[in-house]
Amino acid sequence: MYSPLHAVTGFLIARAVPHPLLMVIAGIASHYALDAVPHGDMRMPPGWSTGKRFALIVGLDLSIAAIAITMLLSAATPAWRLQLVGGSVSGLLPDVLWGIRRLFNHLNWQIPIVSRLLDQHQRWHDFMHVKTPHDAPYRLGLVLQIALLTAILLLAYAGTALST
Ligand SMILES: [Zn+2]
Repeated sequence: MYSPLHAVTGFLIARAVPHPLLMVIAGIASHYALDAVPHGDMRMPPGWSTGKRFALIVGLDLSIAAIAITMLLSAATPAWRLQLVGGSVSGLLPDVLWGIRRLFNHLNWQIPIVSRLLDQHQRWHDFMHVKTPHDAPYRLGLVLQIALLTAILLLAYAGTALST
């Protein structure tokens, strides 16, 4: 699933779970739960998961996530901001680890323990992720993710999800 939904879900969890450790655990768990829902990214058009096109998608993905979180943060009181950013990062963390592992592999880096932990995490991440035969068509998944993100942002701005 793309980063904006993971980040926004982590944000909303941070709002609902004030305890920092529980918030981080729930934020990370939300990532695996969302990845298990069919959302189209296993059916990306051929050639879109490598090279410049992939770099563009990652750049857009992270930019939209940053904009969404900035918009939500602007509606929150300053005392909550660190907690809410922590929740957003927790929601994104499994994909951050995926990205670090991908970078390490690209650079041919093998760091004792770290590389092994990243590999083990990736096995769990892959296990939890919806598999290609069960995934939604790419465009449908994209539309669903955009619709869900829009709904969450509208709810947040209407003040029903965030009241701080
Ligand atoms: Zn993921």
